[in-house]
Amino acid sequence: MAAETGAAEAQPKPPVDVPVIVLSGPSGSGKSTIVDRLVRESPVKLVKVISATTRPPRPTEKDGEDYYFLSPEEFERRRQAGEFLECAEVHGSGYWYGTLLSELRRAAEQGGWALPEIDVQGALRVMEVYPDALTIFLKTPSEEEYERRLRKRGTESDEAIQRRLQTARNELQYAHRYRYQVINDDLDRAVREIVDIISQWEEKAHA
Ligand code: ADP
Ligand code: 5GP
Repeated sequence: MAAETGAAEAQPKPPVDVPVIVLSGPSGSGKSTIVDRLVRESPVKLVKVISATTRPPRPTEKDGEDYYFLSPEEFERRRQAGEFLECAEVHGSGYWYGTLLSELRRAAEQGGWALPEIDVQGALRVMEVYPDALTIFLKTPSEEEYERRLRKRGTESDEAIQRRLQTARNELQYAHRYRYQVINDDLDRAVREIVDIISQWEEKAHA
């Protein structure tokens, strides 16, 4: 066993000095729905981090609001320039998604907590860089409910839904790595639970 030295190992400083709250969970767990509510109802100012993606926009999505929609070439250029906190190909879809450092800077400038809404592999990376982040894993009450909600949303093909369900099964294995797990059964109840978690976290930070 290693000898106790009493000296904590120095953590590298995060690239942007900003509090981070990560909400993640499988596709269909309700992340987007809850993030939109939290931005309005949270007791502390939350700044939704807009990810970049190479996925094409859905009919209702707007560039710069839902995502920054980038060509694969532009995404790769920015990746090589070190502009991402994390990025990954998600769901084996061939599409890339990433958290831009410029978005964390925007949150810091606005005096809010940065709130990225990302998949589990991205969240694990963020936890490495921001070990003090408040991390919340969102679940549906049952596995069947992911499928029901994805079908109800109606934005994916059958094949894409099956791929997302397979990813969901893998992602659920990482739920214990988050500080909190919340079940999105009733939307209002789940939002209230997360608002309480944020309030307690904020109180602890100032205690
Ligand atoms: P994600 O961003 O995690 O993929 P969404 O926020 O798009 O998930 O939610 C998936 C679908 O489930 C949407 O149609 C949304 O309206 C619906 N939904 C979200 N929360 C609930 C809930 N508590 N009860 C029933 N349906 C919900
Ligand atoms: P969608 O295509 O449904 O908008 O998102 C697909 C998945 O990509 C979701 O699980 C979402 O959380 C994830 N995602 C969105 N933005 C990012 C990001 O910046 N980084 C990572 N790693 N995943 C992301």
